[in-house]
Amino acid sequence: AKVAGKNCYRFYSRAMDQAVERRVHLEHELRGAWDRGELSLVYQPVYRLSDGMMVGAEALLRWQHPQQGLVAPSVFIDVAEQSGLIETLGPQVLRTACRDAVGWQGARASGEPMFVSVNVSPRQLRTGDLPKVVSESLADTGLPARHLHIELTETAVIGDEVHASALLSQLRTAGVKVWLDDFGTGFSGLSHLRRVPVDGVKIDRSFIADVLRDPDDLALTTAIIAMAHSLGITVVAEGVEREGQYSILRERGCDLAQGYWLGHPVSNEEFMTLLH
Ligand code: C2E
Ligand code: CA
Ligand code: CA
Ligand code: CA
Repeated sequence: AKVAGKNCYRFYSRAMDQAVERRVHLEHELRGAWDRGELSLVYQPVYRLSDGMMVGAEALLRWQHPQQGLVAPSVFIDVAEQSGLIETLGPQVLRTACRDAVGWQGARASGEPMFVSVNVSPRQLRTGDLPKVVSESLADTGLPARHLHIELTETAVIGDEVHASALLSQLRTAGVKVWLDDFGTGFSGLSHLRRVPVDGVKIDRSFIADVLRDPDDLALTTAIIAMAHSLGITVVAEGVEREGQYSILRERGCDLAQGYWLGHPVSNEEFMTLLH
């Protein structure tokens, strides 16, 4: 049966275009990648603009493919999402990030707590067991709920705001913070904030990229900060690559920031050395 399956696959692959064939390959290889130790998390520090303190980190998944080298999450996360693999991968990511974040707390000279921010894909939200997966991760690792942030994109909540709101409320009641990622890229960003309960928004890096050159992007960024603050929502800027961007964001009252100028994503081992 195995041989027949393989022949069958070969037959169809001739008819498929290369991109599809690559996807099928990736899906097949991604299936066992976690158990083979090819997947790992890197952490990008997040800083508070008012005093320059590091206050947390975003967990980002990396796949070290044995032949192809580093595969971009923009490629394989999509594969994981489409194939349903994200339903096993997501909980593994969450648990690992919580476990690593427990290790950060004691390592800080200042004793200041550190949050870990974990990306959750639309499918993880749709399956409905996210609150359970989250509470299990917290219970198993001992990470206090307030040190966990969940990042969702607008597309995850679009179309099913009632269901999404109920899930997010459950998480927030448990003490977990919910952030809306890539904020500003969807057309209905502002209206969502009325219906979907979130603690923070992450201004998409496409706005931050031009904030020094394009008066429109600066105006939009400033407006998002003012609007979010009037709703009691925290604002995070991502993709800060230059000091000038950092300064102007601080001047405009943005709460938190991350980006290559502040720190690249690094392994947990390396991240721990930043905490001293
Ligand atoms: P994202 O959530 O918007 O993550 C931020 C991306 O921006 C990361 O790319 C990060 O490495 C990159 N970045 C950080 N600072 C800068 C900067 O200053 N300039 C520029 N140009 N880029 C910067 P990465 O790691 O390739 O991740 C891409 C996307 O893949 C993420 O976008 C997220 O949507 C998804 N992703 C990554 N890890 C996970 C995961 O564990 N679960 C899920 N569901 N999605 C993930
Ligand atoms: Ca994110
Ligand atoms: Ca983002
Ligand atoms: Ca622009």
